[in-house]
Amino acid sequence: MSTVRATVRRIMEDFGPDYWRELDAQRAFPQPFFEAMGKAGFFGTLLPVEHGGSGAGPAAAAAIVEEINRAGGDAAAINAQMAICGAILRGGSDAQKARYLTAVARGARRCLALAASEPDCGADMSALESTAERQADGSWLLKAHKVFISMVEHTDLLVLLTRTDQGPGLFLIDRREHGEALEVRPLELIANRMTTTLFVDGLRVPDEMRLGEPGSGLTTLMGGFAVRRVLAACESIGNARFLLDRALEHARTREVFGRIIGQNQGVQYPLAQAYARVEAADLMRADALRLIEAGEDAGGRSALAKVLASEAAWETARAALTSFGGWGLASEMHVERKLRECTVFIFNNLLMSMISQRVLGLPKGF
Ligand SMILES: Cc1cc2nc3c(=O)[nH]c(=O)nc-3n(C[C@H](O)[C@H](O)[C@H](O)COP(=O)(O)OP(=O)(O)OC[C@H]3O[C@@H](n4cnc5c(N)ncnc54)[C@H](O)[C@@H]3O)c2cc1C
Repeated sequence: MSTVRATVRRIMEDFGPDYWRELDAQRAFPQPFFEAMGKAGFFGTLLPVEHGGSGAGPAAAAAIVEEINRAGGDAAAINAQMAICGAILRGGSDAQKARYLTAVARGARRCLALAASEPDCGADMSALESTAERQADGSWLLKAHKVFISMVEHTDLLVLLTRTDQGPGLFLIDRREHGEALEVRPLELIANRMTTTLFVDGLRVPDEMRLGEPGSGLTTLMGGFAVRRVLAACESIGNARFLLDRALEHARTREVFGRIIGQNQGVQYPLAQAYARVEAADLMRADALRLIEAGEDAGGRSALAKVLASEAAWETARAALTSFGGWGLASEMHVERKLRECTVFIFNNLLMSMISQRVLGLPKGF
């Protein structure tokens, strides 16, 4: 793992915090960085060797994501390219796997977008309104309205969740073939997640673009949830450690009232508390990874890792603001950007429900 971390650190030397600050201001895709990560062979980290991947697995993916954010970057695009193709790996036919997975691992195709959320169906995936209707010739007619869909504008392959007459189904849309049938509108968010609304108004796709049996869509997606939660935890842990590094450096060097601000308990304690939270989240992330790699149920542990890590990052951002004072709000310090990025991960209610019910055995609430 130390080799993976060392390689990412080396790449990140060319893509320092100012690179990401500029992208954030422009709301742009990190093209040269993405290419550098592809050249290093990281796209296929979660794919087995027989499908063109490196077979390095979830612990390596976790290290990659953490190191990017720890260096002041944003791992969203790499996280997506490594993980979203898992839907093809789990639900796809042999022909789909052969057609797409090696291409994703090599970077010949980008698989960056998963379109599930809808305007009237956010957290509740049982209330999907987008539809896929089977046609007499076996093809499917897709009608969808999705919101908060990240990186649609930058992907080749889009995984779309819709309702079918047999329950939730997944479909692949190849933007190279069907891009003109997608209406994509940017949705300005607090951070540069390249998020859009997406309309698909009567797109006909052949049956070979169906991923798995109609009705199995949610099960296929859920098969990847533990890894995705751990990777989300790693984004937060990386963000938290980036913020902590900067806040500690500032606290050690900034003098006010004739003394170093880090001498004051009012500055020290939030940093010590943030450190405690990040270290605890790190251990939970490691435990979740241990279960995933052992092939055991990591649902509860991965949920705890994601909750602890996102809260640790949020508290670290606050502690960093206490160290930096007004300078924390100046974009050149990179604290405010990371603070905004931390907000993206802070919604944990559904995970808390899952922990309450599946881990603590409390009654089902919905
Ligand atoms: C930056 C960003 C990127 C995203 N990218 C994608 C993407 O690429 N693809 C995609 O499909 N989606 C994406 N999403 C959408 C994300 O998955 C949704 O935000 C999420 O599913 C919740 O939907 P909602 O925001 O509509 O909240 P709602 O479902 O409206 O819920 C609002 C709040 O109420 C809480 N809540 C709802 N029901 C309960 C309950 N029973 N008990 C307790 N609390 C409850 C929720 O947790 C939430 O905090 C993205 C979101 C963001 C912010």
